[in-house]
Amino acid sequence: MIQTGLHHVTAFSGLALRNLDFHTRVLGLRLVKKTVNFDDPGTYHLYYGDAAGRPGTILTFFPIERAAPGRVGVGETQETAFRIPRASIGWWTHRLIEQGVAHEPLVQVFGAPVLRFRDPDGMMLALVGVADPEGEGEAWASGEVPVEHAIRGLHGVTLLLDKAEPTAAILTEVLGLHEAGREGNLIRFAGSAAVGGFVTLRAVGGFLPGRPGAGSVHHIAFRAADDAAQAAMGAALAARGLHVTEQRDRQYFRSIYFREPGGVLFEIATDAPGFAVDEPIEALGSALKLPAGLEPHRAEIEAVLPKVA
Ligand code: ZN
Repeated sequence: MIQTGLHHVTAFSGLALRNLDFHTRVLGLRLVKKTVNFDDPGTYHLYYGDAAGRPGTILTFFPIERAAPGRVGVGETQETAFRIPRASIGWWTHRLIEQGVAHEPLVQVFGAPVLRFRDPDGMMLALVGVADPEGEGEAWASGEVPVEHAIRGLHGVTLLLDKAEPTAAILTEVLGLHEAGREGNLIRFAGSAAVGGFVTLRAVGGFLPGRPGAGSVHHIAFRAADDAAQAAMGAALAARGLHVTEQRDRQYFRSIYFREPGGVLFEIATDAPGFAVDEPIEALGSALKLPAGLEPHRAEIEAVLPKVA
C-alpha cells in the first residue's frame, strides 16, 4: 500500500547542543543523522526519529547559534505533534514537570488527549495520546524514556492559514490526504500512514504573518513512494500554476519543493534510500556524515561547526 502523509518536519533552532539535549534526552528521540545543511555547510542539520529513522518519524533542525527567536503567524506551521501511547500521558506530564518544561493544561482535540509544550527555542510541540500507538513505528528506547512510553513518530502538524480551502485542495488532490474531520476552526486531513498521518488546518483570516527564526518550522515534507510518484505530484502542481523546484538529492531522500497557496513551504520527499544509506542502523547519528561533494572539505567544515558531543 502506498503510504501518504508527512515524511519529516524541519525547523530552525538556537544552540545545537541545547537542541540535541532536549530532543534526545528529554524527549527520548534518536539522533538518526548528524550532517550539515547542504545549502549552507557551516551549519548542522540534525535529524531525530525512531529507532530506524522511518519516514513519518523525522523532526530535523538547522541550529543557528545566535538565531533571533521566530514568531508564529499565518503561512506557517504552528504546532508539531508526536504520537505517544494514550496511557503514557500521565507519565509524560510528570516528565515535563520534572525536567522544568512548562506545559499547557491537557486538552482534547478530535477526541484525543493533547499535551502542549515548547522546546528551549519556543517551538510549539505537543504529545498526542493515541489508542493504537504501535502502528508501523519502531520506538527508540533511550536512557531516560523507557520504550513503553517512547514517542511513536510524528502525529502531525497544524498549519496557521488565512483561509483553508486552497491548501486543502493541494492536500487532497495532489498529496494523497483526505478530510478526516472538523472541530471549531480546525479541519483535519489524514494520509494513509499511521505515523505522520495528520495535517490540520487552522484558518484565522487576517492574523499577522509569521517571522522566521529560532523555534520556527522552515518546511514540512510529504511522502512520495518513489521518483515516479514524486514526478506525477510535481506535474499536478505545475498544472495548477505552482512553481516547483527541480529534484534535489538530499542523500537520504530526493526532494522537490514548492510554496503552497497558503504560504507554507512544502517539500515532497521520496521514502528511499533512507538513513542507513551511509552508516549501519545500529550506528545512526554517531558520526558526522557528509555527502560526497562536501567530503573533500571535511576539515574546514568540522572546524566551524560547534561541538555537540
Ligand atoms: Zn526537508
